[in-house]
Order: sequence, then structure tokens, then C-alpha cells
Amino acid sequence: MRKLIYCLVLLLVILSNPTFSQVKPVTDYINEVKSLSNRADVKAANDYIDRNHESILREWIGLTEINAPSGQERERAKHIEGLLRKYQLDDIHYDSTGNLIAVRKGSGRGPVIVFDAHMDTVFQPGLQIKATIREGKVYAPGIGDDTRNIEALLTTIRALNEAKIKTKGDLVFVFTVQEETTMNGAKAYVKENKAKINQYIALDGGYEGFTYAGIGINWYRHHFIGPGGHTRSRTPPYSATLPLARAIDRIYQLKVPTNPSSNLNIGMLGGSEVVNAKASDAWFTVDLRSTSNEVIADLEKQIKTILDEEAARIGMTVKTDVISTSPAAVIPGHRESYLVRMSEAVHRVMGFDPPITNAGSNNSSAALREGISSISTGAGPCDGAHSLAENCEIEPLYKGIKKVLLLEVTLAGVE
Ligand SMILES: [Zn+2]
Repeated sequence: MRKLIYCLVLLLVILSNPTFSQVKPVTDYINEVKSLSNRADVKAANDYIDRNHESILREWIGLTEINAPSGQERERAKHIEGLLRKYQLDDIHYDSTGNLIAVRKGSGRGPVIVFDAHMDTVFQPGLQIKATIREGKVYAPGIGDDTRNIEALLTTIRALNEAKIKTKGDLVFVFTVQEETTMNGAKAYVKENKAKINQYIALDGGYEGFTYAGIGINWYRHHFIGPGGHTRSRTPPYSATLPLARAIDRIYQLKVPTNPSSNLNIGMLGGSEVVNAKASDAWFTVDLRSTSNEVIADLEKQIKTILDEEAARIGMTVKTDVISTSPAAVIPGHRESYLVRMSEAVHRVMGFDPPITNAGSNNSSAALREGISSISTGAGPCDGAHSLAENCEIEPLYKGIKKVLLLEVTLAGVE
């Protein structure tokens, strides 16, 4: 009896969680999204976006021209805060990590939905940014990653206000710091707030599709350590570059699966500092990625075997430095979750045939690792991220902003 009650309670807990409760087919959600998007107030919000193309573009450029290297987001944050203060939001504050958080409260009858866009850029401090427009595109470092999505969030807040839309659930807008380096902004935010968050939408990159899981990324530096010596010293012993060359050749023969999506790259190597010495320490890096932590573990083991064999063959030793590790962010069954199906429906109603992939690499992973249902997508097509030639198409952004707005009202629900 006791066991039965326990099972029933467990079932109730599972059913009350929107991630695992009865998930409907996508077609059902498409109908729900369609009727929502036909509401007069949602149409009024879209009209607001249509009427304000010029000012949206100007604001987007203005934000982009305030450079915000990771860890130095303050000036840009202050500018965003200044805009948010005009929107009659329920709460605007910074957390201890420097994230800027703005809450648009719902009626209290719905879930808490977080929308994240990161404020930081990869560009060096002091870089003067001046946007230029030609042939329907706007060019500026950081214009896409991730300023287009900051602009999308700001515009949707104004559009919701303009159309007097009262959501059921709370919309929490989090402008995060340090996404490009450590994701420490999002990590700290989800750690502090995970009990309160129902769904987490990271807006970063993307336009037509979205991701529902994060790829794991491990970086290593492997060294072969030998005796070294002059070019003219007795051989063997050889230079430590010999086992390095043999190992690299063998590692590139390993089977790296494409499903689950995985990658392996040896990008850097080094040996002696001079031409006329045998290397006593020859090293190379490995960048290992997969959407499956099992694949990463398996490849890691196979690489270790190769290194040990090649070192033993020539009487040397191996030393491995782990530069960084970041496991794949996966929630079992998440592809068929409520959030993923509903997000697919929103994209289809917007006229997209969305690529839905599990190889995201952004703040969404921080949420998924804390067990929070999360996707990542974005508000417009851009090119050349992380380069000085970064650019975005202008016209599609307005449609992308409408998509973000539709995600907001669908997920939070409307009174
Ligand atoms: Zn980004």
C-alpha cells in the first residue's frame, strides 16, 4: 500500500512538471499557436514592430557601438538599464555576477519563462565600433552576436506594453555577462534561481531553427617527454617529435561518429625551441567535441591508449594537461518535451521549416546542466560572428523579433 501511494505521488510530481507531463503532438501546438497569433492584442504587438523599423534599427546600432568585452559589460549594461527603466517593468536589478535582470510579471497563473541574451562581445577593449549599412545589411563587430537578440528582447517588451498584453506567467529578461568566455553569468544565474525557473530560452545566434541540447567540448594538451639532446647526439633516443607524429597520424584514423554529432581536431603543436636540438617535450592539442558524453569518454580512452603505446615504443613518457572540459548538456527525452514541441510549432507558424539540433554551445547549456528545460535560438540571420566583418541582414530581424514575441506569449500564456 505504502509503495502504491509512493508511486502515485511520484506520478503526480512527474505529471505536474511541464517538461514531462502529457506532451501533445506538434500539430496540436501549431493550432494553439495559430489561434494565439490571431488574437487582436498579439496582432497589435506585431503592428508595433512593423511601425518602428527605423527606430529599432537605430537602437540596435547604438547598442552595438558600445563595445562590451567579456567581463567589461558595465557601460553597455547601463545603457540597456536606462531603456528598461522607461518600460514600467516590475523589477530591474543586477545580480552579484553583473547580469542585468528585468521582470515583467504575469497574472501569477503561469510558468516563469527566462529569456537570455548575452551582453558581452569577443572584441578587444578600446575597439571603436562604427556600423555601416549597405545592400540591406548592417556591418559592425558584435551586431549579430549577440546584440541582435538584446534588441529583439527590448523591442518585444515595448510591443507587449504597447498592445497591453498581460501574460499568465512571468517573463524574466536576463542580459548576461561573460557568455563568450566562461558562461559564468548564466551559470551563476541558473544556480541561484533554478527552483523558480520553468523554461529557459537563450537567444544567441540562430534564426530559422533552434537547439535543444548542448555539445560537450574538451580541450587537452598532450606532451611526449624524452631526453632531448643535440642533433649530433647518439640516436636513438630520438626527438620527442617522433612519437608525436606517429600518435597524431593514429588519432586521425580513429572513427569519430557523425551521429551523435562529434568532432576531433588537432590544431596546435610544438617541440624544440631551436632547429639543432631534439625536442625533450613535444606537444599537441586536441579539441574533442560530441553531443554524447559517452563518445567523448570513449575517444578520450582510445587517445590515451595510442599515446601510451607510442611513448612506450620509444621509451618516453606522456603528460596530459586538461585545458578545459565542458560536458554535453543533455536532458533525456528532451527532444520530445513540451518546450521543444511548442518551439517547433512557433517556428512553423512563423513560416519556418526549422532545423532542430542538439549541438548548441551557449548559455542554454548552463540551464540544461541544471536540469532546466531549455532551447536556444535567435532573431535574425547574420554572418561572420567573432570577426571584424560581422554583418546581419536587416529586414529578417523584424520577423525574428515577431518570432521571439510569439515564443514569449505562447510559453507564458496570455490572459
Ligand atoms: Zn553569442
